[in-house]
Amino acid sequence: MSAVLVAIDGPSGSGKSTVARRVAEQLGIGYLDTGAMYRALAWLALSEGVDLHDEVAVRALADRLDLELSPGRVRVGEVDVTAAIRTPEVTAAVPPVARNLAVRAWMAQEQRRQMLAAREAGTGMVAEGRDITTVVCPEADVRVLLTASEEARLRRRTLELHGELTEETLEATRAQIVDRDRSDATVSEFFDPAPGVVLIDSSNASIDEVVEQILSLV
Ligand code: C5P
Repeated sequence: MSAVLVAIDGPSGSGKSTVARRVAEQLGIGYLDTGAMYRALAWLALSEGVDLHDEVAVRALADRLDLELSPGRVRVGEVDVTAAIRTPEVTAAVPPVARNLAVRAWMAQEQRRQMLAAREAGTGMVAEGRDITTVVCPEADVRVLLTASEEARLRRRTLELHGELTEETLEATRAQIVDRDRSDATVSEFFDPAPGVVLIDSSNASIDEVVEQILSLV
């Protein structure tokens, strides 16, 4: 049971990061935040002044990405980028990086390698992203697509980013969520579950309930 692989996909604001981290904690297995990998590469491109739309240059940069993901901390080279990769500046820089198909192929290979190594080592892993159930690791033992209504996702992201729900904060966040999902959806399918993938709607469920549901699948 400890070598189980759990794959969780979903749009932004579906709650998948929180849920994936909690499931990994409960099972005592590894956690892979694949979004943090795309964010770290976008951060590196910004900090090195690489044109985000130069697909060859950004893909080449991935080969030099010295990345360490540890619980609660992300490091690139000598720099702690834990907070930096969540800034609006980096979030805005991620879409062209994530639409770069050569980058996606590199990311998928690296993520898949880490998941299969965790299975091989008998430790297991929960990985979370947009394409884990479909492209990165379709043979994961448990595959979940976590969705929520646009309204619920908007409320969660607004609270996370602004700490309060007002008309202004909701509107400021709406464009971000809708635009990012639209961009992400051009390269990954994360609104409809692939065959064998369990759909969980978190619109009216608490984090605890979703975690329980996934644990029972495991
Ligand atoms: O999950 P998070 O919001 O941190 O992901 C940031 C961005 O990274 C997503 O909006 C998406 O563009 C990209 N991403 C992706 N595939 C994944 C994980 C993240 O394209 N598996």
